[in-house]
Amino acid sequence: MLVSSTSLAQKKSPDIALHGTITRAQQNAYLEVPFTVPAGLERITVDFHYTGKEDHATLDLGARDPERFRGWSGGNKSSFTIGIPDATPSYLPGPIPAGRWYLLIGVANLRPGKSSTFTADIYFTRKGEAGGTESFIDHPLSTEARWYRGDLHMHTAHSDGTCPSQSGKSVPCPLFITLETAVRDGLDFVAVTDHNTISHFNDEREMQPYFDKLLLIPGRELTTYSGHFNIFGTTDFIDFELGSPRAPDMNSIFRAAHRVGALASINHPASPTGEICMGCGWSPKNFDMRLTDAMEAVNGDNSDRGQNHTGYWRAQLNRGLRITAIGGSDTHRPVPKPGERNTIGIPTTVVYATELSVPAILKAIREGHVFVDTTASRDRLLEVTATASNQTAHMGDLLTAPTGTSVEITIHTAACTGSKVDFLLDGKSIAALPDQSITAADQTFHATWPSDGAQHWLETDVLTPDGRIQLLGNPVYLNWRSKQ
Ligand SMILES: [Zn+2]
Ligand SMILES: [Zn+2]
Repeated sequence: MLVSSTSLAQKKSPDIALHGTITRAQQNAYLEVPFTVPAGLERITVDFHYTGKEDHATLDLGARDPERFRGWSGGNKSSFTIGIPDATPSYLPGPIPAGRWYLLIGVANLRPGKSSTFTADIYFTRKGEAGGTESFIDHPLSTEARWYRGDLHMHTAHSDGTCPSQSGKSVPCPLFITLETAVRDGLDFVAVTDHNTISHFNDEREMQPYFDKLLLIPGRELTTYSGHFNIFGTTDFIDFELGSPRAPDMNSIFRAAHRVGALASINHPASPTGEICMGCGWSPKNFDMRLTDAMEAVNGDNSDRGQNHTGYWRAQLNRGLRITAIGGSDTHRPVPKPGERNTIGIPTTVVYATELSVPAILKAIREGHVFVDTTASRDRLLEVTATASNQTAHMGDLLTAPTGTSVEITIHTAACTGSKVDFLLDGKSIAALPDQSITAADQTFHATWPSDGAQHWLETDVLTPDGRIQLLGNPVYLNWRSKQ
């Protein structure tokens, strides 16, 4: 089977189309078909087709840039992409020099009297052009609109992720091991977020066709000495050297990420910062909190330390900011010790998306259609619908409820028997919305809140009997007038 591993560049018309006819006289020759590449490119993607396969015509494929060999895929791939951080296996990632490139065509077989006509559609991606929708595959892994479960924060050999070697030494852990663990945990998507680097994208480019039920979201953790944040959906390099001329302050790093369409999310904001973890807490000077799209409200595990960040997130909402709460396992050791559970997926970020693709998952996170499952279950659900004055809102949505109208809230939970539904208005419990006990595996609840017409955010969570967060819901924003 031929594997298409090209980018979304395929959806527009090609920048260059090369055509030609090859005859039997060229049997076993290597043709070098030139094409001109402009400056400022991030990526080149080639789609190659030829006629005569019914007569056993076989053309091999490769590429050279103005200076060097860039790859040879023989007859095993009909399309390939070469980008700065990553390339289709068989091809070499790296800078895309301007000038004369060559498509290499090896005439492996043409029968006597036969010819073959080829077309090579060549697509250019300019730096920053993909606009936050860069993917390692050109189609959704599922076209179903549903809840998808994923983990948005983990480390591999490309930063400080480790696992036991064959002989039991702790070694940099190959990215493949992390992805296999995520599959065993039943996840639908992951973002591998190695620190500051973009070197893991080449492995992910190779892995994505194999992991055709696990979406790989391009991600990295921008780790500075004043705080950490993840960016998702771009493979462009972003300067992280806070205080250098290229990244004078944190606002400039966020803006650089947004310029290339990335989603930005502050990590473990309430962590202490000190000699054990330098810059782990969020402490940049003069940071404009409106620049973050999301925030890790739960990091690492289900301990007090892991859930500590919810307070920091809620404090931002009380400042009038609309920031999606997500979770991240921050896994550094994807292979559990004997008797221990995997850390990947604790917590799980559960996203209601129209399909399983990078653009759809990131859009749903931006919109707040997200809850965080701190227990890494495969089946717990928390669905919230609020209506007022003939409008309907779900988690993350805005709802206008003038004074005197009622907000009718419907909550659907699954697999949470023994826990309770808990409401917070502006971060506080209120008498008008008491807890409700969950007594069935699949249950629907109703509640009513009489609106006072003011700006509020209404969060719905599922808590265990001892008051720990099992499912953390994003709020419905009532009468929201703030900019974000
Ligand atoms: Zn971190
Ligand atoms: Zn991390």
